[in-house]
Amino acid sequence: ASANSAISAVVCFSVFAVATRIIIAQQNRFVKRFFAFFQNFFGESEKLRNFAEKPHFLFWRSAKIREEMMRHLHNWREYGIITPEIRGGTNTMEHYLDNAATTKPCAEAAEAVVRCMTEQYGNPSSLHRKGLEAQHVMEHARQQIAAALGCKAQELLFTSGATESTNLALRGAAAAHGRKRKKIITSAVEHASVRQTLAQLEQQGFTVVAVAPDADGRYHAEDFLREVDGNTCLVSMMLVNNENGYRMPVEETFRGVKRKDPEILTHCDAVQGFLKVPFRTRSLNADLISLSGHKVHALKGAGALYLRQGVRIRPILFGGHQEKSLRPGTESVPLIAAFGAAAEKLSRTVQERYEKAAQLRASLIAQLRTMEGVLIRDIPDASPYVLSISMPGYRSEIILHYLEQREIY
Ligand code: PLP
Repeated sequence: ASANSAISAVVCFSVFAVATRIIIAQQNRFVKRFFAFFQNFFGESEKLRNFAEKPHFLFWRSAKIREEMMRHLHNWREYGIITPEIRGGTNTMEHYLDNAATTKPCAEAAEAVVRCMTEQYGNPSSLHRKGLEAQHVMEHARQQIAAALGCKAQELLFTSGATESTNLALRGAAAAHGRKRKKIITSAVEHASVRQTLAQLEQQGFTVVAVAPDADGRYHAEDFLREVDGNTCLVSMMLVNNENGYRMPVEETFRGVKRKDPEILTHCDAVQGFLKVPFRTRSLNADLISLSGHKVHALKGAGALYLRQGVRIRPILFGGHQEKSLRPGTESVPLIAAFGAAAEKLSRTVQERYEKAAQLRASLIAQLRTMEGVLIRDIPDASPYVLSISMPGYRSEIILHYLEQREIY
């Protein structure tokens, strides 16, 4: 009897052990499949991968999984930094990091465009109800952007984008104030829309002085102020550099310029700073500020020029009375409405998004520092939205195509 009991006990234990192994194996397969799905959908994550590769029971770590998934979802929804896309029948994840080039339009912007195309499609210059309705939409957008920038609605002119805004600002200011004064001061790192417009003005007889940065890539107000003289008509300086994120000392420089000579006009290309980096428009001491819609989750084809009340510039286009005759041509109401909607949405979270971007940038830098051969150009005072890195020995386009194959843009 005792031998039988012993055999039964061994058999029972063996059956139990085999059954347990089968259950664990099944569960591990399930866990792996479960995570493969979520990895495809939400992207690679160190924690998710480790979890999927280790055998354990699902319920042990369910709180952690939830936390991890919520983090991905939060980044995606709130900050548009990670954008999952389901394409071609397979679930793949797109990492869109090229937000200094352009941003994905937000839902509010897309809705505004559709509404204007299907309902409020009148010409805002028409005097009938359909026209007045379109005009109302446009003026509402002007107020939304003015509130986001911190200026009066009548100080904003709509354009097709920042390139047009900078052309109008620089050429319009030079035409209005450049009869006797022929010197324009700028930085050596401006965007092409400023640099090339100034090169054109140089051909028309203006002298353009491009101030160089110091050895660390930083700018100082006194280097600009040293150049200011009785022949200066205009100073143009970007707020945030689009390649390395450097935040220029615009406030201090323009304040010094105005103190030296209030007649000199000041222009700021604020494209990479607007609704990203907190700043006070009045403190910039700028007479003219260029903005772009598609950098702030609106659409390509709409921009704005802030023209401080009382400042006079000349138009560069002719043929209509729109936008105080400074930007003639029928306004693109759908794109303007989208710009307004996006500006209003983003203006509520500038500080919060700034802090989040700073955290993400710091964590990216920390991870990149662990990799050999990556050169990080982390300038102090940089906007957290831009990070410049390079890998000596690799051409940029090679890295670009390598990342592109992994849906990283
Ligand atoms: N200024 C800066 C700093 C930019 O980054 C850009 C766009 O890349 C522009 C101006 C031109 O803007 P848009 O594409 O609206 O003409």
